Amino acid sequence: MYPLVCVNKQHLLENVRAVTALCAEKHIEVTGVTKVFGADPEIARVYVEGGVKRLGDSRIENLKQLQGVEAEKWLIRPPMLSEVEDLVAFADASLNSELVTIQAISDAALKKGTQHRIILMVDLGDIREGFIDHDELLEVAAETEKMPGVHLYGIGVNLTCFSFVQSDEEKMETLARVAAAISERIGRELEVVSGGNSATLDLMLRDGIPARVNNLRLGESLLFGKERAKYTYLPGTHRDVFTLQCEIVEVKEKPSMPWGEIGVDSYGNTPSFIDRGMRKKAICAIGKQDFDVETSTATDPGLIVLGASSDHLMVDVTDSEKDYQVGDLIEFQLGYFSTMRAFTSKYVTKQYIG
Ligand SMILES: *Cc1c(COP(=O)(O)O)cnc(C)c1O
Repeated sequence: MYPLVCVNKQHLLENVRAVTALCAEKHIEVTGVTKVFGADPEIARVYVEGGVKRLGDSRIENLKQLQGVEAEKWLIRPPMLSEVEDLVAFADASLNSELVTIQAISDAALKKGTQHRIILMVDLGDIREGFIDHDELLEVAAETEKMPGVHLYGIGVNLTCFSFVQSDEEKMETLARVAAAISERIGRELEVVSGGNSATLDLMLRDGIPARVNNLRLGESLLFGKERAKYTYLPGTHRDVFTLQCEIVEVKEKPSMPWGEIGVDSYGNTPSFIDRGMRKKAICAIGKQDFDVETSTATDPGLIVLGASSDHLMVDVTDSEKDYQVGDLIEFQLGYFSTMRAFTSKYVTKQYIG
C-alpha cells in the first residue's frame, strides 16, 4: 500500500482550466504533456475534460496507454528509426529533426494506409533537438511536403530544457519568420507553430508571442500551476495535485554526525553533515528509486529531510509538533522530477481523489 501517491483530480482540472483559459486569451492552443505522470490515462482524461485536445508524450510506450483517450497524440521527442511502425500506429503527429527518419515514417505510414503529421523542430539556442540551419530546414520542409505518407503539420521550438536558454520576443519572431518562409515555399499555411513549453508562458502573458505562433506544449504548468521562466505560480492554480505518503519503519535518537572513516558516495562526492547534536530521527520505507528529495516538500514544516538512499529516507523529526512513531506516515508535496519518479516506480501505489 505505501508508498502512495495521491492525485487530486479536482485541483488538476482547475489548473488545466485556468492555464488553458490564459492561453486561449492569447490565441494559443495547448498540447497537454503527459510524460511527467507516465501517461496514466486516468490523469490524461482530466486534461481532456479541462479542454485540452492534443496530448504529447516523449515515449511511445506511454502513448500506447492513451489509446482510449479521445485526443490527438503527439510524440514530442524525435522518434527512433527503430520505432516508426509503432509511431504511426499510436501517434498522430511527432516532432522531427532528421530527414532520414521522416522518410522512414512516410514509408511506414503508407504501408499501414495512414498519414502521419510532421512537426519540424527549430533549435533557437538551447542546443537540444532541431535545425539550426534555416536553409536546411526549408529544404527538408519541401521534401517532407512531397512525401505521400506524411503531412507537414507545422514547426516547433523547444527552449529552457538543456541549456536553459530563455524564450524571448526575438526568438518567437524568428520562429514566426521561419514559419512564414516555409508557408511561402510550400504555398500554404502551416497548421501548427509550437512556441515551446511552460518556460514560454511568462513571455505569452507579457504579450511577447507573435500571432503566427499558435501552440504551446505544457506539462509543468498544468500539473503544478507554475510557469518555468521565473517559476511564479499562475493565478487560480493549485500546487498540491500530487501528494506522497510514506511509512516510518524506524524512530530513534541518533547523533547528527556519522562516526568512522567517511568515504565517497556513488557519484564520487564526499557527503557533509551539520552537527545538531542528538536528534530524533525517522526512517521511511521509500528511496531514490521512488521519488526525488530535491523536488519534494514535506507538508509538516517541522521536519528536516536529511536525504535518501535507494530505499531509505532519513528525516529529522525532532522539531515537529507531532510525536512520530513507527507506522506513522510522512507526507510530501511532489514537484516535477519527484512526480516523474513516483509514476515510473512500480513500488508506488497510485490513488485518485476528486
Ligand atoms: C517535456 C517537454 C515539454 C513540456 O515541458 P514543461 O516544461 O513540462 O511544460 C514540451 N516539449 C517537449 C519537447 C518536451 O520534451
